[in-house]
Amino acid sequence: MNREVRVRFAPSPTGALHIGGVRTALYNYLFAKKMGGKFLLRIEDTDQTRFVPGAEDYIKESLEWLGISPVESPWNPGDCGPYRQSERKPMYMQYALDLVKKGHAYYAFDTSEELEAMRERLTAARVVQPQYNSITRTQMKNSLTLSEDEVKTRLISGEPYVIRIKIPRNEDVRLNDMIRGWVMVNSSTLDDKVLMKSDGMPTYHLANIVDDYLMKITHVIRGEEWLPSAPLHVLLYRYFGWEDTMPQFAHLPLLLKPDGNGKLSKRDGDKLGFPVFPLNWTDPFTGEKSSGFREQGYLPDAFLNFLVFLGWNPGDERELFTLEELVEAFSVDRIGKSGTKFDIAKAKWYNEQYLKTKSTAELMNYFIANAKADGADVSTDKAEAIVNLMKERVTFPADLWKESKFIITAPSDFDQEIASKKWNSDAAKVLSAYATALDSFNGEFDAISAKILLESTAEAEGIKLGKVMQAVRLAVTGSGAGPDLMVVFAILGSAEVAKRIRFALSTLIVVA
Ligand code: GLU
Repeated sequence: MNREVRVRFAPSPTGALHIGGVRTALYNYLFAKKMGGKFLLRIEDTDQTRFVPGAEDYIKESLEWLGISPVESPWNPGDCGPYRQSERKPMYMQYALDLVKKGHAYYAFDTSEELEAMRERLTAARVVQPQYNSITRTQMKNSLTLSEDEVKTRLISGEPYVIRIKIPRNEDVRLNDMIRGWVMVNSSTLDDKVLMKSDGMPTYHLANIVDDYLMKITHVIRGEEWLPSAPLHVLLYRYFGWEDTMPQFAHLPLLLKPDGNGKLSKRDGDKLGFPVFPLNWTDPFTGEKSSGFREQGYLPDAFLNFLVFLGWNPGDERELFTLEELVEAFSVDRIGKSGTKFDIAKAKWYNEQYLKTKSTAELMNYFIANAKADGADVSTDKAEAIVNLMKERVTFPADLWKESKFIITAPSDFDQEIASKKWNSDAAKVLSAYATALDSFNGEFDAISAKILLESTAEAEGIKLGKVMQAVRLAVTGSGAGPDLMVVFAILGSAEVAKRIRFALSTLIVVA
């Protein structure tokens, strides 16, 4: 039976979507597209205590920004809705009861004090990982230890209960992960996880399996942190009798800290000065702010390109891909098993590459908006010339203005370090003569004529231009480094260059 490929991204709305989650969404999207299938999104909000307002909108906006929106989701439902687990609440109980009936699950009435006492007892007996399992359940209050009548009485009287899965004592559970190959776990290491909570809400495990089944999911592509849960999920598929349509699993490698030591966390980003979230986020409870790639000036295609390489490679030298090209090139067998180090320098490199390919017209919009925000009014001609000058040199669109505003606003002070090293009587001589030459210059003042005039002035003064060049830059721009100076001169015009030189000559003191 050939089923239509259907994959899902299943985030829990518990805060800002971490970059690892965005990568999971991207791999799901690419896989679905590649296979001619569908990419769905389901909100897993069964744990109401961890619900964070705004988190769902954040997920939606992040995926929209990147152009990888799902075709079925809470905002765009298909035939398998609702797409929020909280809205599916009434569906789950029947499945849990089905497992009870088949003898694969049971009612448990233990109070939190009793559970705590059990843990203490086991800890005192030096059990490393005290848990409710095939051994300990025999000493607890559940439908396996209590008489049928007593269970009935307790249920009828409305006593709180949970439903737990009955994990077999000693059985090998195997699954063939698309990335890791065969994974085998003995059931003795698993605990009797709660499937149904006392408030009538399913836990993640039950809801996840029931929903993947009902939503006809064919492949589960998710983070490695879920690998330990996969054997339990395999057992659930078996006990429900859904093994025929059990999805194939692919557990993605971890995203590691830049030094490779452990999982990338929000704190690493704060400490090392890079975002770990796609968009800015303000925690609605604490007010704590986190910065996002979008607001830092990363372009969506650059971010996607950076992201896809955190765990996957095309098997050749290519580095730059459009989303369509990624769909074409993507395959799960080229996803690595081991974690990938997070390297923000690479993200910047991608941004620079994509920025260069943008049209001048598009970049002018950023430039003009940033200039306006700084109170500067720049003519279209100038904006165009400046953007052309800067676009090969910057990392972020905002840098176009930030690193060139000295062209629009003449410097009022000068880099003192450069001045102390480079400002001398030779520089002053050349500059003063150049200003005079500029006054009488007529003709087209472009980068070439500006340079020829400067060279001939220095020669006439008997001074090597190379020796005073940095001082010339300092006089006109205020700093010792920047874009092609002769192009800057051409944009400024001869009169403005002369004016700036005279201001520098009157301000800077010649030391030697
Ligand atoms: N709700 C889970 C999460 O937040 C989804 C895990 C899965 O994809 O099965 O990551």
